[in-house]
Amino acid sequence: MAPSGSRNVDCWRVLYWIPVLFISLIVAWSYYAYVVQLCIDTIENMGEKIVYLLVYHVLFIMFVWSYWQTIFTKPMNPLKEFHLSHSDKELLEREDRRESQQEILRRIAKDLPIYTRTMSGAIRYCDHCLLLKPDRCHHCSACDMCILKMDHHCPWVNNCVGFANYKFFMLFLAYSLLYCLFVTATDLQYFIQFWTVDGKTHDRLIQYLNGLPDTQAKFQIMFLFFAASMFSVSLAFLFAYHCWLVCKNRSTLEAFRAPTFQHGPDKDGFSLGTSKNFRQVFGNEKKCWLLPVFSSLGDGCSYPTCLVNADPEQPSSPSGRNPSIKSAGESHQFPPKPLRESQSRLLNNGQSEGNEDRDKRGRIFLTGTSNPALTIEKET
Ligand SMILES: [Zn+2]
Ligand SMILES: [Zn+2]
Repeated sequence: MAPSGSRNVDCWRVLYWIPVLFISLIVAWSYYAYVVQLCIDTIENMGEKIVYLLVYHVLFIMFVWSYWQTIFTKPMNPLKEFHLSHSDKELLEREDRRESQQEILRRIAKDLPIYTRTMSGAIRYCDHCLLLKPDRCHHCSACDMCILKMDHHCPWVNNCVGFANYKFFMLFLAYSLLYCLFVTATDLQYFIQFWTVDGKTHDRLIQYLNGLPDTQAKFQIMFLFFAASMFSVSLAFLFAYHCWLVCKNRSTLEAFRAPTFQHGPDKDGFSLGTSKNFRQVFGNEKKCWLLPVFSSLGDGCSYPTCLVNADPEQPSSPSGRNPSIKSAGESHQFPPKPLRESQSRLLNNGQSEGNEDRDKRGRIFLTGTSNPALTIEKET
């Protein structure tokens, strides 16, 4: 039998679905109001009716599909290489001295493509999941797990938005915005008609209260306009903000607190230029850009960076070396571990533009001589 504590947690988890249910009910009602009340019952011109219904259904399907994908795509966790082995866990537990624990974590981190640190320069370690956090990975307290490239935990989808579903989230914002704009634009003339036919608003309200079906339909059309236009405004701001984040290659968390590299915090540390940044989220296949199917590049655990790193503690990859800047010091801008095909694709693509960025901004960082002390630090 499950302990009462876990039953309580399960009860709370059911409540987390309330915002999703709320959105779903609004969408279902908007479907009824637009399709039945506006298109079928109100619009008389057959051509207009068919065009509106066709465009509406395309937007509706894309919107619901991307919303579904954002909600039900499980967030991705770090690969097993980042988890502490059984012997390392025991070793870490046995050690009381912080310096010895530092040594253990530093030894494990040496073989992994980890370039970011905590604010104080420590290796990023999650003592809930017992793993070394890959770059851009954060522990979500709502999901109780480490999420790759965590953007934020979104109550409206009851899921963490991160590497696995960020593209779906972007498309969800885009299609919901288009959906609301389309409904607002096509509903506008009927909304105006409602207020200007005889100008007697008071009489219409009385009719509504009397429950005349015709007036009820018109009130639904009017309310649909209000709801769609209000959602359009808030979605436009949110979508514009996330477009900016994609172009800058930052997550929402990184926009609030810049990732810390060995030379210090750098908000543009993962930026490879707008085009490559976009492709990192949406992929290289243009035909997949508008579809909510997974096409992001990489494995979510390691990311190319335009920063040059000369830390002798980290192994460098032959593929990551850049001959043009080699004379400036050891460079390994790309992960030293063997990479999956998709990841290698990302890194190779990112390499040229990353160099351009570096040349343009003249940002070459040599940190080999000042490796900060490593400490075990809990990061939120
Ligand atoms: Zn964790
Ligand atoms: Zn979460």
